[in-house]
Amino acid sequence: MPDQGLPGGVQERGIDTSPPVADEIKHTTCYMCACRCGIRVYLRDGALSYIEGNPDHPVNKGVLCAKGSAGIMHQKSPAKLRAPLLRTGPRGSGQFKEISWDEALTLATAWLSKIRHEDPKQLAFFTGRDQSQALTGWWASQFGTPNYAAHGGFCSVNMAAAGLYTLGGSFWEFGEPDWERTNYLLLFGVAEDHDSNPIKLGLGKLKERGAKVVSVNPVRTGYSAIADEWIGITPGSDGLFVLSLARELLLAGRIDAAFLAAFSNAPALVIEAPGTARHGLVARDAEGRVLVWDRDKQAAVPFGSTPRLPALQGSFTLPTGEAVRPAFALVAERVLDEAHAPERVAKRCAIAPDTIRRIAAELAEAAFDESKTVAQPWTDAWGRRHDGFPSRPVALHAMRGISAHANGFHSCRNLHLLQMLLGAVDRPGSWRYKPPFPRPTPPGIKPAGKTLTPGKPMPGPPLGFPQGPEDLLVDAEGKALRIDKAFSWEAPLAAHGLMHLVITNAANGDPYPIEVLFLFMANMAWNSAMNVDATREMLTRRRPDGEYAIPRVIYVDAFRSETVDFADLVLPDTTYLERWDCISLLDRPICDAEGAADAIRQPVLTPDRDVRPFQDVLIELGWRLGLPGLTREDGSARFPGGYADYLVHHERKPGQGPLAGWRGADGSEDGLGAPNESQLERYIANGCFWRSEIPEAARFSRHANPAYLAWAKRMGFLDNENPIVFQFYGEALQRFRLAAEGHGAVQPPDAMRERVRKAFDPLPLWYPPFEDEANDESRFPLHAITQRPMAMYHSWGSMNAWLRQIHAANRLYVPAALAAEHGVADDDWVALSSRHGRIEAQVRVMHAVNARTVWTWNAIGKKRGAWGLDANAPEFTRGFLLNHLIDELLPEQGAGYRYANSDPVTGQAAWYDLRVRLEKIERPA
Ligand code: SF4
Repeated sequence: MPDQGLPGGVQERGIDTSPPVADEIKHTTCYMCACRCGIRVYLRDGALSYIEGNPDHPVNKGVLCAKGSAGIMHQKSPAKLRAPLLRTGPRGSGQFKEISWDEALTLATAWLSKIRHEDPKQLAFFTGRDQSQALTGWWASQFGTPNYAAHGGFCSVNMAAAGLYTLGGSFWEFGEPDWERTNYLLLFGVAEDHDSNPIKLGLGKLKERGAKVVSVNPVRTGYSAIADEWIGITPGSDGLFVLSLARELLLAGRIDAAFLAAFSNAPALVIEAPGTARHGLVARDAEGRVLVWDRDKQAAVPFGSTPRLPALQGSFTLPTGEAVRPAFALVAERVLDEAHAPERVAKRCAIAPDTIRRIAAELAEAAFDESKTVAQPWTDAWGRRHDGFPSRPVALHAMRGISAHANGFHSCRNLHLLQMLLGAVDRPGSWRYKPPFPRPTPPGIKPAGKTLTPGKPMPGPPLGFPQGPEDLLVDAEGKALRIDKAFSWEAPLAAHGLMHLVITNAANGDPYPIEVLFLFMANMAWNSAMNVDATREMLTRRRPDGEYAIPRVIYVDAFRSETVDFADLVLPDTTYLERWDCISLLDRPICDAEGAADAIRQPVLTPDRDVRPFQDVLIELGWRLGLPGLTREDGSARFPGGYADYLVHHERKPGQGPLAGWRGADGSEDGLGAPNESQLERYIANGCFWRSEIPEAARFSRHANPAYLAWAKRMGFLDNENPIVFQFYGEALQRFRLAAEGHGAVQPPDAMRERVRKAFDPLPLWYPPFEDEANDESRFPLHAITQRPMAMYHSWGSMNAWLRQIHAANRLYVPAALAAEHGVADDDWVALSSRHGRIEAQVRVMHAVNARTVWTWNAIGKKRGAWGLDANAPEFTRGFLLNHLIDELLPEQGAGYRYANSDPVTGQAAWYDLRVRLEKIERPA
């Protein structure tokens, strides 16, 4: 590694005021949160002395946050696991003995091999905020179990699924605001999280240019605190607010009808034949092409074939005699419903009608009146010539706050509707795709797992995007085939699985018991669980024969988290500074709107204990199990060099590997190309990342821009150059609704029909969160939510000596008027009760919060004894979690069945639907 500008000492009056901190600098990628910033690690005598941001890195451009800097204390934490552990006492007791890696892997292989050859779905393999899902998902598929998912189901799958089913992209990793050009940024449910440093950099640019930032969030923290306008919305009502904005735009005629007609299915002719199996589907010609109404010919013609833009309004009859209407007319009718009038939504949303009207007007003004054209003639995928790309300088960005509700899928879809109405999708100044998006709506990958063959891989990945009932993983009775019930009638579009249901379902044997629960980096016995106490009980529950209800638990973590005590076998991971890793385009990439990028981590430190990188362990375990992708024909390991070997040599399809840079034997190819033996060295020499600029002509309107589509195909991002049509009308949803109405070969069980019918509405929709309906408003009048602080990422800072100084204990933030109502002042104690539980917490009074919402920082409270903390650490004595108040199941309905506390479309955990009551109490003992 060449010298990269090591800071030298400065002699001042004989005193060295700036002694060199390092004798070596190595590049790698931060993993103190999910943002994946490039870092430079300063080493002295091989030990870590300092971390700084890499100024050349495309994600953070040198910016480093408090968490990133504190990576040094992560490394020094006494909570690090030191060797593989085998449970010796009862589960939960924390009694273990250290064993060798060979013993640990032999044991794991024995447990897993048996079930792989008998019934592979007996393995449930779930990972947390893992950045190697391209490996872990593929591994599960090779093992032959459909029971795999990562953390997305309890994070933001609503956002991802709504985006992918509507625009072929979404926020954060799939798209970003055009920071250079936007004049108006509308944030929804974004705390200081996820795309952390890029958003900070972007907001800085907007502030410099005087662009307006409006943040919609019940709590004014993080980015909301520096927004020009903060809208303290009632949790769970975002989708309603957006419908009201859309209604105002429609009433004022301030929409981009040409954009909708040209690029979305708004002109698609929707069949009106109530009671039949065709009702609500889009009419197509004999070749399967979507039909629209040609206003000149007064006839139905294929989408994209009309010289003049097709009709958006009207009622027509097809030659077949079927009555049809353009989808736009149906959507407009729904949006214009009086129920969405500002006066009607104001109370529930806690937003004044005038504010709604003003925001709608400001959006239109920025989108249309401030539009400029990027003069760059182009021809779209249907052969229509355009003089340039008109800007729509309004950008939206949303995160978990809008997503983590039982109505989150439709709320996120409503946001995309708003973007489409404004023509603000992948145009200059608007939200723009990041490669490898856009993808078809939805992407063509379907979840595998309908039929399993013991001892054999599944024919496809465990996660995907059902396009109709026939793609669901259900048996003939409609019963779920997956342990988490993803892709069943309970959560048909569960693109990220339902991690929050795995332990409950496995312990209850519903839909079936499992033998092995294999968890990586998911603190399911504490802050990652809804209903924490019950989760801990279920992990220790025994069957009548004395065996645990979940017989084997294998857990992988680098630190002594709360979940460690509940494992039978603990496989200790390294820290992020001690291993190879890959931020892959096959997983969740780090691209930006103008370039494709990926990155690696390299080991910059050598572990001082008997731990191994999880990815290496998984690859070795795969070989020990004889998984075909990890074993050669002669029985030898396919990747004897572990994850680094896999990163270079694994091909998902010919020429496509985990890393897209420096492919081809000589490293001259991008995207696709043969493996390159020097690929990792090339990454290291480039600061551990690769980035390839999108050609100039291919940077806007990518969904329909042949220059982009051709480039994306060449890079391996798309299988063909077909344009992507926005789903203004949710035809895929209608297919599920038709099944619920009694049509087709695959239909929901009778008890679920109405729930599916309601949730699978192809038109824009808002409905109250289920917890609102399950709770008596007079008993639980308040909302309770969490926010992520700047200095902690979930529990990842729990063991970090620097970060703990910022957040070692949390308070319950109570709106000032509410505090006065209850006679509560700063530092007083209150009891917070939900239909499910009760906790006690210390108060901090706050003004900048929705009047009926209390909140706290997430994941601060800890279980005594965990994370290597002192027995009287504030995290144990004063820290608390809202998780104890949240039930993972809804109350019984109908025949006694308890649905998940989740979105009925995607299964997204409804964390933020919590309803509570507050009472002042004396200081607890
Ligand atoms: S934002 Fe996240 S990835 Fe970036 S420096 Fe901070 S902790 Fe590290």
